[in-house]
Amino acid sequence: MSIEKIRDPRDIKHRFGDMEADYIYTLGVAGERFFREIKENAKIFGTKCNKCNIIYVPPRMYCERCFEELKEWIEVGSKGTVYTFTIAYVDENGNRLEKPEIWAFIKIHGTEGGFIHKLGEIEPKDVCIGMEVEAVFKEKEQRTGSITDIKYFKPAK
Ligand SMILES: [Zn+2]
Repeated sequence: MSIEKIRDPRDIKHRFGDMEADYIYTLGVAGERFFREIKENAKIFGTKCNKCNIIYVPPRMYCERCFEELKEWIEVGSKGTVYTFTIAYVDENGNRLEKPEIWAFIKIHGTEGGFIHKLGEIEPKDVCIGMEVEAVFKEKEQRTGSITDIKYFKPAK
């Protein structure tokens, strides 16, 4: 994957797929629990294949490699690494943003997976591949059981 400036945040979403739609339509039960843990406990969970020793985030119901049903849920913490990123200058409707947004694919530590999210508390010029970040959750009353319950990822201390 290359690093480049993309002017439309939809590009990065297309590149990695629409995560929430994927959960809703293909992951079913696993997606439901994943979002419930985020909403109620501000915790990110994955599922683990003990045969392959892989943790999937977002959680999968079946192992991609051995097709074993995955029943073990593991809390994976809220830290990860910036795998790739892009700076968005317009919103999803094509309107110019007052402040550019940074979208990144964040690989969650200790797992095989990760997801796309916004970065915050950092300027675009200071972002780099491989930097350590951690999730910042919304207040509990504001959480609705969606990926946006995570406000953004900020540089980890
Ligand atoms: Zn497996």
